[in-house]
Amino acid sequence: MNQDSMPDTDAITRLVQEFSKLPGIGPKSAQRITFHLLRNSEEKSKSLADALLSLKQRIALCSQCCNVTESDPCPICRNPQRDTAQVCIVEQPQDILALEHTGVYKGLYHVLHGAISPAEGVGADDIRIRELLDRLQANTFREVILATNTNLEGEQTAMYLSRLITPLDIKVTRLARGLPYGTELEYADDVTLTRALEGRSEF
Ligand SMILES: [Zn+2]
Repeated sequence: MNQDSMPDTDAITRLVQEFSKLPGIGPKSAQRITFHLLRNSEEKSKSLADALLSLKQRIALCSQCCNVTESDPCPICRNPQRDTAQVCIVEQPQDILALEHTGVYKGLYHVLHGAISPAEGVGADDIRIRELLDRLQANTFREVILATNTNLEGEQTAMYLSRLITPLDIKVTRLARGLPYGTELEYADDVTLTRALEGRSEF
C-alpha cells in the first residue's frame, strides 16, 4: 500500500484500520488482534505476511468450475473419481468446503461468486453465469443441483438459473427444504447439508 495515502497514521493505527475492514471484525477485535501481533516474534509476523501475500499471488480461479485453486484445473475437476455428469452450483468457494465435508456428493461444482441481487445492483452478468452456460453446452451433464443459499438472493438466482437451464434438457434439482430459510450454506452443519443433498427435488 502507498504510505503517502496515510500520512498521519502510525503502524498500530494502520493495522487496526486494516483489520476493521475485514468481515466480522469490529474495532475492538481489530485492536486485540493488532496488540496480539505486536507481541509476536518477528518470525511469526513474517510467516503471516507471507501467507497473506501468497493468497493473491498463488490463488487463481479454476478455468472449469471457477473455484479458487493453486493449480488449474482444480483438484476436484481433475479427480477421475468424480461423477462428471453432475454439477452443483454454489455461490461461494466456501460452500464447496461445506459440501465436501459431508462426503456425500461426488459430482463437480460451479462457483458463481455471488448471487443475483437487484437491491445491491448485482445482475446476472456480474456473477459467473456465462461460464456456467458455456460449460453446460460444451459437456454432457445429467443433473444440475442448485445449491445457492436459501435467502432472497439465493432463491432469485436459483429461479433465474432454472429458467436458463431447463430448456437445455438437463435435470435441475434444488437442495431440499430441510435447510431453514435464510441459511448460508457455508454455516450449515453436516447432517442438515447431507439431508438437503439427499432429499433434493426437481426444481
Ligand atoms: Zn475446478
